[in-house]
Amino acid sequence: MTDFTAKTDADGVTTITWDVPGKSMNVMSMAGFAELNGLIDAALADPSVKGVIITSGKKDFAGGMDLNVIAQMRAGGAQAIFDGVMQMHQVLRKIELAGMDFKTKKGGKPVVAALPGTALGIGLELPLACHRIIAAENPKAKIGLPEIMVGIFPGGGGTTRLARKLGAMMAAPFLLEGKLSDPKGAKAAGLIDEVVPADQLLARAKDWVLAAKEADLVKPWDEKGYKMPGGAPYHPAGFMTFVGASAMVHGKTQGVYPAAKALLAAVYEGALVPFDAALRIEARQFTAVLMNPSSSAMIRSLFINKEALEKGANRPEAPDQTVKKLGVLGAGMMGAGIAYVSAQAGIEVVLIDAAQEAADRGKAYSEGLLDKGMKRGKVTAEKKAEVLGRITATTDYAALDGVDLIVEAVFEDPKVKAEVTAKAEAAAGPGAIFATNTSTLPISALARASARPEQFIGIHFFSPVDKMMLVEIIRGRETGTVAVAKALDFVRQIRKTPIVVNDARFFYANRCIIPYINEGIRMVAEGVEPALVENAAKLVGMPLGPLQLVDETSIDLGVKIAKATKAAMGADYPDGAVDDVLFWMADQGRLGRKANAGFYAYSEKGERLGLWEGLAPKYPLDKMQPSLGDVQHRLLMAQVLEAVRALEAGVLTDIREGDVGAILGWGFAPWSGGPFSWLDIIGAPRAVEICRGLVAQFGHRFEAPALLREMAEKGETFYGRFGGGAAKAA
Ligand code: NAD
Repeated sequence: MTDFTAKTDADGVTTITWDVPGKSMNVMSMAGFAELNGLIDAALADPSVKGVIITSGKKDFAGGMDLNVIAQMRAGGAQAIFDGVMQMHQVLRKIELAGMDFKTKKGGKPVVAALPGTALGIGLELPLACHRIIAAENPKAKIGLPEIMVGIFPGGGGTTRLARKLGAMMAAPFLLEGKLSDPKGAKAAGLIDEVVPADQLLARAKDWVLAAKEADLVKPWDEKGYKMPGGAPYHPAGFMTFVGASAMVHGKTQGVYPAAKALLAAVYEGALVPFDAALRIEARQFTAVLMNPSSSAMIRSLFINKEALEKGANRPEAPDQTVKKLGVLGAGMMGAGIAYVSAQAGIEVVLIDAAQEAADRGKAYSEGLLDKGMKRGKVTAEKKAEVLGRITATTDYAALDGVDLIVEAVFEDPKVKAEVTAKAEAAAGPGAIFATNTSTLPISALARASARPEQFIGIHFFSPVDKMMLVEIIRGRETGTVAVAKALDFVRQIRKTPIVVNDARFFYANRCIIPYINEGIRMVAEGVEPALVENAAKLVGMPLGPLQLVDETSIDLGVKIAKATKAAMGADYPDGAVDDVLFWMADQGRLGRKANAGFYAYSEKGERLGLWEGLAPKYPLDKMQPSLGDVQHRLLMAQVLEAVRALEAGVLTDIREGDVGAILGWGFAPWSGGPFSWLDIIGAPRAVEICRGLVAQFGHRFEAPALLREMAEKGETFYGRFGGGAAKAA
């Protein structure tokens, strides 16, 4: 079984076809590279071969490098990675020079890449080493270099080649942001050379090979006097670009993503030396990035484990539970979003609200999003009609007849929820699973309103539903396996990432995010400069500072949650100091972004202006401000210790879910790979030491959980102890 095969036709054109057995998408492995190398050698050595087409036997060209291989490469150490990467460069460089005499640039054979569909990562780096890239007309195809999204950068020559092909400025969105384009867009951007109707792809590639002249094979950077488009670093225009790029990268990444810096260094330094030296620089930077624990943690969480969860790593044994007809109760913000993503996924939806007007408004939300899509050319009129046609907006519970899943998203009030639960269960058949989207009410308590508690479960979406990729599935005390399987199959249908947790206050995500917000507010009460709080959060990779976050989610919601939590916890309630600030803000009418007034000031149009100056008179700044590091440790530990407690308490049963859920659910410092990965990076002994310091200064909420202390004593890591699979803390 081989990944690549070659066939030479009567006209002397060799077609090398990439078709990895047993996979729906080609991915590159080291063994695959060796095969490709052998076939290229053979084609170049055979005098009867005039040129080569590299294409795919699948509907797409390639999804990229096998990231599992990259994760394993790290085990061999820096030298092994560097040597492996340089071998890859040699193969690609061989394709690029295609047997030509380097001095005269004569005698090479044309090599063309013919892409039937998606070409990502090494799937574009290989074509970039060819002499021409022709893609099939296929609006679904994605072309680009998404490596930066998982904490690495294009290390198969893509960085060096694209920077030299387009110039640093034009290559920046593709390299630094991982921008993907369809073939038309890729052609317009200069990423590829030609787009042809799909049925003419191979014929056109062959014509090009047969007609190619020697000059067509010489890359600009192999020609004498090559100048980088837009200017190299010491060119006046290039200088502006590179200085600007450096500032931009730092502004966007706050310096916490090693890959972005290394990428920029590879482009900058590479631009100052000949091409082959630039490839070596790229390989060195790439090696450094792969050796950085942040990159491997990002690959593990954002790629390997995220995919494992999406594929049902924690799905219990149960027959297929694909949802055919869905009932959504409550057509407010959440219900409307849930109806939209479900109808998009081809599911028939009955959207129910108390008044027809409210139900219609919920359906109109989908129409609005589809209209936006049409304006951007992403949605056709037929598609819009089709999706809207799947949503029935009504007040009539009888319409729930035949639904196999119900998601309830009515007001956060147990009485209202109990009432609709009973009504909906009576209307739907006995086999239907009932899910609640509650964010704060215990699932097991809500299940009391159900006649079939084993068919009752929590499916907790995040807002806005169409954008947020995480869905938290909550098992109540009596929830059965079929309900869990149903929820997981549903989440897979709507193409989101699930985590499955047990029922406890605030489940997992909110349990960790609330202490983060509270720690920020507590610091305001102590007289810490609010700008220090916000910047410390961003400088450690949080997308929003705690004060901005509470403004976004609304301060009255914070007040509501605080009151309910206090009522439930009584004397144990720890957040009095936080409530002083929160309740005072609410009394001032500063309810957050929606009121155009919160911890931040806003313009009339709703633009965030800066931190609100009215805080200082009420909470005067302390003369002694804490260090940046202390503020960061407080903000991180507030979340991370809660994640560890959730694991200890059996709310989380799998650290992979804890890490993936934290990044997708509330944007926990993605560079770290998640809270458990972060603890593994710094090590349990260091974490315990940080906690000790925080307890001495700020109180017992920073006490290291017993599990963490035990791991520090034994020298264990979370991924070492709890492995990749489901793991019980106890
Ligand atoms: P919302 O107020 O926007 O919508 C609730 C809808 O339920 C309203 O349209 C209301 O008319 C309808 N409704 C109320 N009583 C009803 C009844 N008896 N029968 C039918 N419909 C009824 O609220 P929302 O923000 O969409 O939240 C809904 C649920 O989702 C709540 O449980 C909330 O805690 C949870 N949730 C909210 C968020 C969020 O960010 N807003 C996130 C996750 C979960």
